[in-house]
Amino acid sequence: MSVLDSLGSLGSPTDRRSFLARSAKAAAVPALAAALGGSVLAQPASADTTGLPDYAPIPPSALGPAVNAQGYYVGRVERNLYWVTDGTYQAAFLTTSDGVVLFDAPPTIGHNLQRAIDEVASANGVSNQVTHIVYSHHHADHLGGSFLFGNDVERIGHVETRALLLRDNDPSRPVPDTTFTDRKTLHIGGERIELAHLGTNHTPDNIYIHFPDHGTLMLVDINLPGWVPFDSFNLNEDVPGSIAAPATALSYPWTHHIGGHMGRLGTREDMAIYQQYVADLLVGVKAALANVDPTPYFAKYGDNEWAAVKEYQAAQTKYAADPVIKKYTGVLAAADVYTESTAFVLLESVRLDLGIGSQVHA
Ligand SMILES: [Zn+2]
Repeated sequence: MSVLDSLGSLGSPTDRRSFLARSAKAAAVPALAAALGGSVLAQPASADTTGLPDYAPIPPSALGPAVNAQGYYVGRVERNLYWVTDGTYQAAFLTTSDGVVLFDAPPTIGHNLQRAIDEVASANGVSNQVTHIVYSHHHADHLGGSFLFGNDVERIGHVETRALLLRDNDPSRPVPDTTFTDRKTLHIGGERIELAHLGTNHTPDNIYIHFPDHGTLMLVDINLPGWVPFDSFNLNEDVPGSIAAPATALSYPWTHHIGGHMGRLGTREDMAIYQQYVADLLVGVKAALANVDPTPYFAKYGDNEWAAVKEYQAAQTKYAADPVIKKYTGVLAAADVYTESTAFVLLESVRLDLGIGSQVHA
């Protein structure tokens, strides 16, 4: 059946939209695999999927607009603020009277960043010249395309971003020329952008990028709108700081959230649902610490303490995650994929950061 035939058989606009997005996703597999460090050896059609587990369907609400033949989608957030996605990663840019301000440069979007900017600039008769790049945080998966814009742009980031990039010494991520410590308001081409470092969260340097005149907050790698966090609570380095971040995000006035990931923008409701998801998992891990009996694991494994601990914590994690997976399946995409690994990270944080469940020897 051809793509056109199958499109004809899809009734509702939602079905069609999700089908388009899925087709785009399938085509984007090699790019995403490459971002994960993989070498793509097979075409999707000929790949052997025997033995791979099934997961619950992705709710259509998790999917965004279809990407174009080049593999990207560019859309207006509000007025002259735009966002670009490849379906998995997101960047943003402001067109101004003095040129373009780019926010992050994920390598998976790569050269499509300039293509998206060219498309918008030519449609609106404004400059397509990137003059500034603002960094959300130092991670290579969000900045690895920065070098494509050469040495004549001004790069702006947190002072810790600069320190971490000096450490990483990666030519694809030139260090920021301009840094700040707590807050900095940028005035570029008549536009206002408020940067703030409000404590550590996903990384020590992850910042809040607020567009007060565009009703938008860019906060990367905290809430991935429509989806549960990536493996192990998004690999967040500061777990309590990351748990607190959604409340900080919601304390700002905004309508649109650019989360840095997946195929669509976020809303305040998305942020609140994500906040509740984490809160529900925290309730679960605290209950698991109180209610899961360690005795059988230590009785079985004797001197092999790691075996006992592993199986005991696996039982605690499952105890915490199962009801949350049930509640959020159909609400957040991939609840059945990554909730257990996030529950484990939250369990360890509750135990080690908060000291819940630790007992002092009599
Ligand atoms: Zn990151």
